Amino acid sequence: MFNKFIASILPYLPKKLIWIFSRSYISGETIDDAMRVSKEFNSKNIKVTLDVLGEFIKSLEEAETNKQEYLNLIDVSIRNRIDGNFSAKPTSFGLLIDKEVCYRHMREIVAKAASLNSFIRIDMEDSPCTDLEVELFRRLKTEFPANVGLVLQAYLKRTFDDLKGMADLNTEMIPLNFRLCKGIYIEPEAISYKKKGEINQHFLEDLEFMFKNKMYAGIATHDKILIEGAYRLIEKYKVPESLYEFQMLYGVTPGLRQSVVNNGHAMRIYVPFGEKWFGYSTRRLKENPKMASHIIKAIFYKG
Ligand SMILES: Cc1cc2nc3c(=O)[nH]c(=O)nc-3n(C[C@H](O)[C@H](O)[C@H](O)COP(=O)(O)OP(=O)(O)OC[C@H]3O[C@@H](n4cnc5c(N)ncnc54)[C@H](O)[C@@H]3O)c2cc1C
Repeated sequence: MFNKFIASILPYLPKKLIWIFSRSYISGETIDDAMRVSKEFNSKNIKVTLDVLGEFIKSLEEAETNKQEYLNLIDVSIRNRIDGNFSAKPTSFGLLIDKEVCYRHMREIVAKAASLNSFIRIDMEDSPCTDLEVELFRRLKTEFPANVGLVLQAYLKRTFDDLKGMADLNTEMIPLNFRLCKGIYIEPEAISYKKKGEINQHFLEDLEFMFKNKMYAGIATHDKILIEGAYRLIEKYKVPESLYEFQMLYGVTPGLRQSVVNNGHAMRIYVPFGEKWFGYSTRRLKENPKMASHIIKAIFYKG
C-alpha cells in the first residue's frame, strides 16, 4: 500500500527526488554523462553498450529524431574512443507504425556503424514485436554481417526454434552474434515460461546451442546460478574468448560484475542515458511500484 501510494505521487514530486531512485540505473541526461560513465568502465577494462532512452513514439517524426540521436551518438562515441557498441529498440524507429520506415532508419544506423567498424545490437521488445524484430535482424544481417546482432529471450517458448531457424546465417568467419537474456516483459503463459527454474533451464539450453554451433553469445544476466552454469558450458566446450562475453545492466550487482571480471571473462555494461529518464521512471514506478527493478524495466519498455 505504502509503495503504491509513493508510486502514485511520484510524478508530482520534484525531479531531483526521483533522480535519487533513478540515478543508480541511468548514467545521466546528456551524451557527456554517457561518455564519462563509459570511460570509467573502459578504464576498468569493461566495455559498454550505449542506449538512448526514448519515450513511446506516436509519430514517424519522432522516429526520425531518434535516428538522428543515434547517428550523433555513434559519431561522439567514436570521437571519444569509447570501447563499446550500441543497443537500439526498433519501436523507437517506428516498428509498430510502419515497419519499412523502421527498416530504413535502422539500416542507416547500422550502415553508419559498419562504416566505422562498429556494431548495433537490436534489443528484443515484447512479443508483438518478436517476428518483426527477427525479420528486421535477418534483413540487416544479410547486408551487414559483422555489424548487427539480436537479443533472444530465454522465457519465450519459441526462442530455441528461432535460434535453430537463424543458424543458416552463421558462418565461421562471421558468427551470429546474440545477446541472451531471460526477458523483461510480462508475456502470456501460452507463449512463455513463468517459473524461474524453467527459464533458467531454457537459458542454459539456448546458450549451449550457441556454443555448440560456434555462435557469439552475450550472456546477459545478474543471476549467479546462470553465471555459474555459463562458466561450466564455457569450460565444457572450450569456448574461446572471441566467442562470448558477459553483460550486465548499469548499476546492478556491481560485486558480481567484478567477480566475473576477476575470473578473467570479458564484461560489457548496458549504459542507458537521455533526457527522457523522468517520464520513463515515473510512469513505470506508477504502474508497478517495485522501485528499482521497474526503473530497469523502464529502460526496456517503450509504451
Ligand atoms: C545487458 C542486458 C541487456 C538486456 N536486454 C534486454 C532486452 O533486449 N530485452 C529484454 O526483454 N530484456 C533485456 N534484459 C533484461 C533481462 O531480460 C532480465 O529481465 C534482467 O536482466 C533480470 O534478469 P536476471 O537474469 O538478471 O535474473 P534475475 O533472477 O531477475 O536477477 C538475479 C539477481 O540479480 C539482481 N538483480 C536483478 N535485477 C536487479 C535490479 N533491478 N536491481 C537490483 N538487483 C537486481 C538480484 O540480486 C537478483 O536476485 C537485459 C539485461 C541485461 C543484463
